[in-house]
Amino acid sequence: MTSTQLWPALVVPVLNGMAFLLALGFRRNRAVMLLAILTIASLALASHEQTLLAIRGEEAIRMFAPWLLLAAAAVPERRLLARGNLALLAMLAMAIWLTLAAPVHIWPLLRDVLPLGWLDLKAGLVGAGLVFAAAILCWARWLASRVPMESALGFVLILVAIALLPTMRAGAILDLLAIAGALAIAAILFTSYRMAFVDGLAGLPNRRALDEALARLSGDFMLAMVDVDHFKAFNDRHGHAAGDRVLQAVANQLKATRGANAYRYGGEEFCLVFTGAGMRQAEESCEELRERVESMRVKVRSTPARKRSTSKPTRDSSAVSVTISIGLAARSPRGRDSTEVLKAADKALYAAKAKGRNRVVAP
Ligand code: GH3
Ligand code: MG
Ligand code: MG
Repeated sequence: MTSTQLWPALVVPVLNGMAFLLALGFRRNRAVMLLAILTIASLALASHEQTLLAIRGEEAIRMFAPWLLLAAAAVPERRLLARGNLALLAMLAMAIWLTLAAPVHIWPLLRDVLPLGWLDLKAGLVGAGLVFAAAILCWARWLASRVPMESALGFVLILVAIALLPTMRAGAILDLLAIAGALAIAAILFTSYRMAFVDGLAGLPNRRALDEALARLSGDFMLAMVDVDHFKAFNDRHGHAAGDRVLQAVANQLKATRGANAYRYGGEEFCLVFTGAGMRQAEESCEELRERVESMRVKVRSTPARKRSTSKPTRDSSAVSVTISIGLAARSPRGRDSTEVLKAADKALYAAKAKGRNRVVAP
């Protein structure tokens, strides 16, 4: 440890420890593993200069941390105490034991046994390379799953990889670990915010977000309730997976609606909120949306879901379309509260269904 770093030494393990506890609370188990390693690594670096931990700390981090981080990045997201995670924790415990309690004569041997025992220029490069590979693994997962936490873990690991570069001064490792810890905290909070307010399937803000947005609105606004027609029959006929793809496609069309914010209200119901200038063209925008959805084509397997269980599965696919009904209501005169506007929009939607569906009913 040097006196040149920016942070009081204990801030760094505290930051990483907080990120670890948040990850634990939100059950992000891969993040838990990665942050446990980073917390212990920063504790080792922050320890007092006279202790064995301080003497061996940085060397131990270069020897063990890259392998542990790579292993933690490679395990899939699963139960905290799943076998792979337990093996990783056992390796971490072994690394801690070797650092804290290994007899003096064993320590130099480790340098020869472990490939990262060479503490020269090459060692730093190998360690940084391993952590860089761990970051790539996280980004590959992010590309596959689009979970923002994975992308953030990639950035956290890149900071650690930079910290391990042989050209870095000793104190810089602690500085970079502090930034990594703060970044992990921000990422976990952002991920949990998204989980609470954004619908995972449609990628739209959910009903809780709608309630909060309506509570914040002070002026006039218009609200459209949008419902997919005969969607139960669609699911029965083409399967739930095709139904999900339809909901995603409809959600994408809602996102493209002029002058409105779109929400997933629940099930196959969506909501559009028009404010300001958007209100003047609300009916026109709803009509355009209805037409866009009607002309959309969604690929489905041509064998109906019901028959598939008795007949051979088929790879044939065909394109089908869906329609939506929309009920529009306005908060004017002012004073009508948002629950009443929602009720009025629902009533208009009901009227659109009664009139034969695939239409917009406006006030
Ligand atoms: P209507 O034209 O009167 O709206 O008829 P409907 O069949 O669309 O209405 P109903 O409320 O009877 O059925 C809604 C269906 O939406 C039932 C449910 O299985 C389906 N659904 C709700 N959420 C989801 C989802 O997330 N994915 C899929 N695939 N289906 C969903
Ligand atoms: Mg419905
Ligand atoms: Mg419906």
